[in-house]
Amino acid sequence: MKCDTFLIKYAEIGTKGKNRYVFEDILCKRIRVRLKELGSFEVKRDYGRIYVYANSEYDYDDVMERLTKIFGIVGVCPVLRTTLDLSKEDGGFDDIAETLIKHFENEFDSFDFSFKMFVKRNNKSFPITSMEMDARLGEVLLKKYEDEGLHVDIHTPDIKVYVEIRDQVYIYSKIIPGPGGLPTGTNGRGLALLSGGIDSPVATYMIAKRGVEMEAVYFNAPPYTSERAKDKVKKLGTICSEYAGPIRLHIVNFTDMQLCIYDKCPHDELTIIMKRYMYRMAEEIAKKEGLECIVTGESIGQVSSQTAQSLLVINEVINEIPVYRPLIGMDKQEIINLSQKIDTYETSILPYEDCCTIFVAKHPVTKPHLDVIKRSEEKLKGVIEPIYEKAMSTIETVVLK
Ligand code: ATP
Ligand code: MG
Repeated sequence: MKCDTFLIKYAEIGTKGKNRYVFEDILCKRIRVRLKELGSFEVKRDYGRIYVYANSEYDYDDVMERLTKIFGIVGVCPVLRTTLDLSKEDGGFDDIAETLIKHFENEFDSFDFSFKMFVKRNNKSFPITSMEMDARLGEVLLKKYEDEGLHVDIHTPDIKVYVEIRDQVYIYSKIIPGPGGLPTGTNGRGLALLSGGIDSPVATYMIAKRGVEMEAVYFNAPPYTSERAKDKVKKLGTICSEYAGPIRLHIVNFTDMQLCIYDKCPHDELTIIMKRYMYRMAEEIAKKEGLECIVTGESIGQVSSQTAQSLLVINEVINEIPVYRPLIGMDKQEIINLSQKIDTYETSILPYEDCCTIFVAKHPVTKPHLDVIKRSEEKLKGVIEPIYEKAMSTIETVVLK
């Protein structure tokens, strides 16, 4: 076993004052859920920190892969533990030294780097002071690895070697970065408009990262869009769920809505009017599910329906629930970079048509006027209502995890 314990580092939770325990408990719970199928683990708050103790064999890479995706975690340190022996005069030093070497063997392939020891003696029954332990353990490492390039640098070491002496001894020296953010479920719940593109999964990720538990809605248009397009959205939601926890995806059959709008409204206004109906439905779903925000992947000027004027007209249908657009000021390349980082990119670029590309006009309006759009929507009166109701009453909901 490469290590028997993981020390979980988290940043912002520590600033939450009295609420800190609530945040920590939620983070522990998320970790337990994510590790459940990988072995037997105990996740505990100890000494003001979170530890994951492995009680069975496990695959190190699988565990790391999961831990480093959980929101709220800024870093994961693989820890090797050993026991103290307070019946001995030196507290069991040899065993600590041996465990330190074992830790080095596990964590490093070569030893041509500088280090500094950071021994913390919380357990004052341990007979050797921290400073003396720093020196003695440093010597142990040098003796073993000096020939291979290991050296001490007390000002800017490449590696900080931590040895914490408590009821047991905890040794670690590597921090593998996590995604940061806040644990899912500590900041309310939201509804993402999730399409199969590059942008909306990134937007979902960004809001979920702030601790918002996400649901999602996808407007599907069979047979104009294929089953594969729907599967792609599910896949994207599933990737987001690796960070954000399970996501309930509401799939709305939007085909008849689109056909009705296509039939009655000017074609250069189709996208705007369709978006307005998507937003109306999204707000209704959010209210019904008790969600506190709507999230979209829009970015100013990216396409005709995302000019400032288009967004004004589209947003006008929203009555109560705020719409968050975390990508609003980002360039496409910045969004792509983020989607590559979170691993949604390869799925997003699969070439399955989404419902908007089928019904797009050759020359869509880029500066829609609200009164003109409202007048066009008048033409839908008396026709679209039952279609709208049917779409809302036949929503299929699946849980992605
Ligand atoms: P994306 O890359 O997220 O698909 P996009 O650049 O294709 O975005 P639009 O098609 O204009 O942009 O959509 C803007 C936003 O509206 C999307 O980011 C998404 O949040 C939402 N949206 C668009 N189409 C759908 C759909 N079929 N189902 C759910 N949400 C959608
Ligand atoms: Mg799209």
